[in-house]
Amino acid sequence: MNELELWGADFFYSGMGLPQEDVGMVVSGSSVGGTVVTTGKLEELRRIYPHALEKPTVSVIAPVPANAHTHLDMSTIPFKRDSYTPWIGYVVQNREQRTLESAKVGLELLGQVIPSSRPIFGDIVFNPEVMRFLLTQVEARGVAYWEVFAPNPADADRVFNETVAQMREFKALERPEKIRLGLSPHTAHTVSGELLRRLVHWAKAEGVPLQIHLGESPAEWQLFQSGTGPLAEMMERISGATLTEILGVEPSSELTPVGQLARLGVLEARPTLIHMVHVSETDVQQIARAGCVVVTCPRSNAALECGRFDWSLFARYGIEIGLGTDSVASGESLNILDELEFAKNLYGDGLSMRSLVRAAVKGSYRALGLEVPRVRRGEVAGNVRVW
Ligand SMILES: [Zn+2]
Repeated sequence: MNELELWGADFFYSGMGLPQEDVGMVVSGSSVGGTVVTTGKLEELRRIYPHALEKPTVSVIAPVPANAHTHLDMSTIPFKRDSYTPWIGYVVQNREQRTLESAKVGLELLGQVIPSSRPIFGDIVFNPEVMRFLLTQVEARGVAYWEVFAPNPADADRVFNETVAQMREFKALERPEKIRLGLSPHTAHTVSGELLRRLVHWAKAEGVPLQIHLGESPAEWQLFQSGTGPLAEMMERISGATLTEILGVEPSSELTPVGQLARLGVLEARPTLIHMVHVSETDVQQIARAGCVVVTCPRSNAALECGRFDWSLFARYGIEIGLGTDSVASGESLNILDELEFAKNLYGDGLSMRSLVRAAVKGSYRALGLEVPRVRRGEVAGNVRVW
């Protein structure tokens, strides 16, 4: 008979309900190679399995967490603190670094976070070589979202046709149970309203998952509300179009980033929304009704002076919240456990460890359209993480 090990944790999360305290699991064989015999209250497990070798109590036992938002191909662009608009300029300056080599560095970093299990992530892909590599070579699960950036509505027809052709080529490369193909119109102000509407309707009809950056910076909020500020100026300069032309509607105090998506019918496709720092309560109600999952990247938001995601507001409306690191260039690492630790300190007593663990597991898997794994009898213990 295999030897039994008893693992106790401050927080135990099975993948269902809320994480519980003082619960543990009994594993036969080694914790990596064995299987879960049972889970339950620690005291009870000690009584039923007196011969099990008890391991030192760990902080969390849970399914392997997922990183719901990355930019792997930015892994060689050094981390930089700056406010959002100049930081975007910094990334544009370094865009020739967004290569396959850089994405491979990112994959290496992801692999180090949780050794012995394949990474689970949602990646924004800018370079076709990287997309082909992720879809054909990489042993991982999640979604690789093809990024579209085209603010001038004069380009809408051409970019729509090119994107659909490109997506068809990629789609043929998808392998079952590996990385799926998704689409990411970058944001509601860097893709013209006309193009955004058409791309999202196409993706919805094809069943292609979507991620959109939204409500990230104060400058974005200002762009929609008044058409002024550094980001508004930058968008008009680089697109050669006015903001009213880009958005297809005049900026006004009635218009928010979420409102722009609602107006274009984008929310009906239930995109996963990234950041969501700058929102009104009405926006949050709309997101809840649409059933969108949101993903927060607290370190990136802090580094780019974007503000703090209002976790309790979203939780109050029952919205599923996932966790992502964003890129190395804004989030400093691709380690989802670093992100969780940062969030724990950022919110302090305002956010329970239970909610955080649930977000890193259930919220992030749901953001990627993946089934949430469980810690339960018969499960391979290697799919269970001890933090
Ligand atoms: Zn991002």
